[in-house]
Amino acid sequence: MSASEDLFAAMSAPPEKVAFEPTRSAGIVRMEQFAIRTGAHYASKRNYDLGANNRSTVSALSPWIRHRLITEEEVLTQTLARYSPSTAMKFIQEVFWRGYFKGWLEQHPSVWNSYKQGVRTAQNRLHSNAELNADYIGAIEGRTGIACFDHWCRELVETGYLHNHARMWFASIWIFTLRLPWELGADFFLNHLIDGDSASNTLSWRWVGGLHTKGKTYLARQDNIAKYTDGAFKTIGQLAKTTLPLFEDDIHPVVPLEPMARQPHGDHLLLVTAEDCRPDDFIPEGASGIIGLGVPLKHGQSNQQHAFKTGAIGDALDRLGAPSNVAVTDDWATAIIAAAQAAGIKHVVTPFAPVGDVATKLAALQATLATEGITLYQHRRPYDTHTWPHATKGFFKLKKMIPTILSTLGHAHVEGP
Ligand SMILES: Cc1cc2nc3c(=O)[nH]c(=O)nc-3n(C[C@H](O)[C@H](O)[C@H](O)COP(=O)(O)OP(=O)(O)OC[C@H]3O[C@@H](n4cnc5c(N)ncnc54)[C@H](O)[C@@H]3O)c2cc1C
Repeated sequence: MSASEDLFAAMSAPPEKVAFEPTRSAGIVRMEQFAIRTGAHYASKRNYDLGANNRSTVSALSPWIRHRLITEEEVLTQTLARYSPSTAMKFIQEVFWRGYFKGWLEQHPSVWNSYKQGVRTAQNRLHSNAELNADYIGAIEGRTGIACFDHWCRELVETGYLHNHARMWFASIWIFTLRLPWELGADFFLNHLIDGDSASNTLSWRWVGGLHTKGKTYLARQDNIAKYTDGAFKTIGQLAKTTLPLFEDDIHPVVPLEPMARQPHGDHLLLVTAEDCRPDDFIPEGASGIIGLGVPLKHGQSNQQHAFKTGAIGDALDRLGAPSNVAVTDDWATAIIAAAQAAGIKHVVTPFAPVGDVATKLAALQATLATEGITLYQHRRPYDTHTWPHATKGFFKLKKMIPTILSTLGHAHVEGP
């Protein structure tokens, strides 16, 4: 099929509603369904948010990619099998934005800690400031009177997903029109988006507010919203006209990436978490035992996000031939020790957990495991190993390296952007 025939087929497809089922097979179905649109169609249509009943302009693959039920590399392979790199470059670059944010946060971990602290501080302000609390509750309940914002709020809570443009508009209105603390908005997203991700979410909110690219903000404009929602929303006179960039005192030092840890010889227990539900893709076979660990529903977290995470881990266990239940517990150390002792194993291997709650949990339990003579090894994906080192400054630096990264990963020569 020629590129123009592909574009025609993609444009004439019926509206698509996407159901987020936490299985690899459902992710593959969506990946294959969207493959035809990763070329010219995506490049020309991706900014249009046509609502939850029509996701045809974007892939809506983020819930599966976030939990690595399908991987960025698979999505790129599928895309490059259909289109030339230049035809699909816009989609390829967007996929690499995720790796950019992951790599950047990995090398600036204090940004995550400062965000978490910012959430706690802002929550405390809610207790002492009734007016702020009322504005915040009005915003998260979709009662601001700004029709588009209230609509996205409901859409997020109901579906667990928002189009990228809606996320940008939402964050901008939250910060610059409603003047609410950005950390509370990011926390609301992180708790409700099924793809909620420590790096993409925190850094995108910081980007909108002017903290990621210092002083550069994103302003939601009424004409832009009207155009890219196909006229669904009019916000005349309701939105802030200017932005005052957010400011922070904190300095976030660069922390070099750790070299890939050596891997254990001999028997090991494979630990599956929601961070990477496809360990069989890159961790050597031969685990003598497998354990899947989730966490109980957190305060504020949506049921559907929690169910997706637990389901994704369960799906991984099924595929690995270990269809036992996912252990949903806060006490991972006890669960790991029990599983390791039952299997008579001293080594535990898990996919590398990037900066975020799982990484914090794993760091905290190492000492307890050590008292039982058990060592935890984290194994990083080649895709991350080759992508993250280029995420030190702005995205442009990484973008230039995309052809090199793809050819290092074994994809045919890809010309530059
Ligand atoms: C305020 C705000 C918060 C966000 N929070 C998250 C989050 O918690 N988790 C998350 O995965 N993304 C987040 N994003 C990035 C982006 O909006 C989503 O990745 C994208 O909308 C997912 O939809 P899709 O799968 O249809 O994307 P597509 O446009 O089809 O892109 C394909 C894939 O590329 C990656 N991608 C595309 N655009 C971006 C981007 N701008 N940044 C990072 N990765 C990208 C995603 O993995 C996505 O699934 C956020 C963006 C903003 C502005």
